[in-house]
Amino acid sequence: MVLNKIRTEGPISRIELAKSNHISPSTVASAVQELIKEGYVSEIGTGISSGGRKPVLLKFNPNHQYLFAVAVTNSLVILAQMNLEGSVHRKSTHPISGLQGDALVDLLLELMDSFIGEPDDPHRCIGISVTVPGIVDDKQGIVYYNSKLRMSNVPLKQMLEDRYGLKTWLENDMNAVVLAERRFGNYPYSDLIYISIGDGLGSGILINDRIMRGVHGGAGEFGHTSVTLNGIRCECGNVGCLDSYISWIAVYSRILTAITTGRPTVISKLIGGDYGKIVPAVYLEALRQGDRLAQGINEEVAEYLGAGIVNLINLFNPRALILGGEMAIGNAELLSKVQAYIEKHAMMIVKDELVFGQSSLGEHDKLMGAAAILLQDVLGFSITD
Ligand SMILES: [Zn+2]
Repeated sequence: MVLNKIRTEGPISRIELAKSNHISPSTVASAVQELIKEGYVSEIGTGISSGGRKPVLLKFNPNHQYLFAVAVTNSLVILAQMNLEGSVHRKSTHPISGLQGDALVDLLLELMDSFIGEPDDPHRCIGISVTVPGIVDDKQGIVYYNSKLRMSNVPLKQMLEDRYGLKTWLENDMNAVVLAERRFGNYPYSDLIYISIGDGLGSGILINDRIMRGVHGGAGEFGHTSVTLNGIRCECGNVGCLDSYISWIAVYSRILTAITTGRPTVISKLIGGDYGKIVPAVYLEALRQGDRLAQGINEEVAEYLGAGIVNLINLFNPRALILGGEMAIGNAELLSKVQAYIEKHAMMIVKDELVFGQSSLGEHDKLMGAAAILLQDVLGFSITD
């Protein structure tokens, strides 16, 4: 706790630390002595004195140790070396190129071999943290299932610990990102929901500062909540799943149908006849140019998403709801339409004081998620109160 307070409130004096947290000065002194010896904290300059000797200020050393973060997405493997504040010091990004299952695991190991190599100061490395989409057992460190990457029952934690001799953490990507929004982002609340809309539709739920994982790590499958009883059949076995209506795959096929049936849209011009160029960035560009087709789709996405989100808000009463993913970031219209939907449809008491906004982590969101998971476990970082 002392370390955490120095990190969040520093530079701070020992006396101030004791006073503001109601701990005895001698407890603070001995904890600080240990933290300085271990290198987590250093003394800098002097603060303002209220008379008598000027107090020495204490500061957290985020570069004292480092960690390896690995984010596996449905299209990329991203590797990074990060410090204890989640800053990226070195990064490397590789396309998955359609690899699945064992072939993907082989690629991952190959990439990690060359990235991790022989760490400079192995004693300064506190471990490896990996995030993957899909259903993950964080305790046993097993990837149970991932529909797109076809990883099933992969004991990744054990594999990496045996291979590199470094303690390893494994977490679902959305769970990791919601913790990172709380820990590093603009949403320092203990009750948070993060929703990502892109090539899939997922969520991470933080309740009372704990990630909601469920019994098998399957909680938060927001994309597979039902929005209609007689709807499109989904690969999960159900019908009418939200994912089938608004994830990028659904939007992509609507755009493709419109283009091939001759509906006028600026997207035709933007892709120059190459259907492979229909990507979320092109969709966002079409929206910026006021394209009618894109606007119509966006409106429908907002309604379905809004309905799904109202369910979540009514169920969990979060303090903040964060929208991320390729289809949401930079899509101001989607955000305002969903917000209006929530305003109109959520229950009065649960929408009171609800903060609604866009992901605040930027391009390193999943890496920061991986870091947040490891740091919470090693240094208890997410708990600031
Ligand atoms: Zn489904």
